[in-house]
Amino acid sequence: LMEVLEHEQDLPSRTPDGHDMPLMVNTGLAVDTVASLKSRIGGVGLYRTEVPFMITERFPGEQEQTRLYRDQLESFDPLPVVMRTLDIGGDKDLPYFPIEEANPFLGWRGIRVTLDHPEVLMVQLRAMLRASQGLDNLQVLLPMVTNVEEVDDALRLLDRAILELGEEGVPVNRPPVGVMLEVPATLYQLDALACRVDFFSVGSNDLTQYLLAVDRNNPRVADLYDACHPAVLSAMTRLAEDTRRLDMPTSVCGEMAGDPAGALLLMGMGFDALSMNAPSLPRVRAAIRRVSLDGARELVTETLRLDSPAEVRRHLAERLRGWDLG
Ligand code: PEP
Ligand code: MG
Repeated sequence: LMEVLEHEQDLPSRTPDGHDMPLMVNTGLAVDTVASLKSRIGGVGLYRTEVPFMITERFPGEQEQTRLYRDQLESFDPLPVVMRTLDIGGDKDLPYFPIEEANPFLGWRGIRVTLDHPEVLMVQLRAMLRASQGLDNLQVLLPMVTNVEEVDDALRLLDRAILELGEEGVPVNRPPVGVMLEVPATLYQLDALACRVDFFSVGSNDLTQYLLAVDRNNPRVADLYDACHPAVLSAMTRLAEDTRRLDMPTSVCGEMAGDPAGALLLMGMGFDALSMNAPSLPRVRAAIRRVSLDGARELVTETLRLDSPAEVRRHLAERLRGWDLG
């Protein structure tokens, strides 16, 4: 089977009825391993900038960050690279910036941290902008957004960084900016968010954790953590409809996008692109090449009728076997 999949990797991620489903990769560390996939993907849907920060001994400076980001942008040029601003807190700790809290996932995380430390965010934004000089593929993504004010504050800092660099003789373009939809509250403020930014990216990992109130890393409740919970699927379906209505390009970058059944559901719901870890690409591509868009839509409709995560899982497994994807 892996041989068949390998052979298919140079073929488009297109359904039998001709629907193109762009596949992107999630990156973090060195690009060389994934850059070879360039001809087979639509770009980098999520570059987790905190990953390189985890292996240094202090916050990397502007020069060092510029080099890291330049490497990503150049390796995938002209494909888009979505760079997420530092998303620490929760389960992601920097040894030189410890955060100790009773409820880290409900605490100081993502943009909450970087807006409280604008000096950290400014260095990062300046480095991203400098790295994109002469290129046109940088996109900036804001993690853990809960309120529109956070977006406004971050956009102000971005404008300031652009202005500063201009004054320093480094003219840069304003990149498209996106918001992660991963805090349930954002699902009820899509209009207000859509006015402010250019695209959305759904963090299904955190969205699942927060919708189900299940710590995504706690083994005691691991059985309850399930992106196939009917409530999650219903929220995601509604989300895809709403973002379409708003004409906002919306991709999914959580683990659900890298699971063949999850990817088919997301395609059927109507999301624009799927971003996943590189090893998931072959199986997801194979699923998309075997199932029509109508088939995927039917799968969503059938699944939404089921009441429990276990029934959903059983149903998905059975349908995947029918498509020879089991
Ligand atoms: C997510 O929450 O789904 C996501 C993609 O971000 P992370 O896993 O880095 O929190
Ligand atoms: Mg997240």
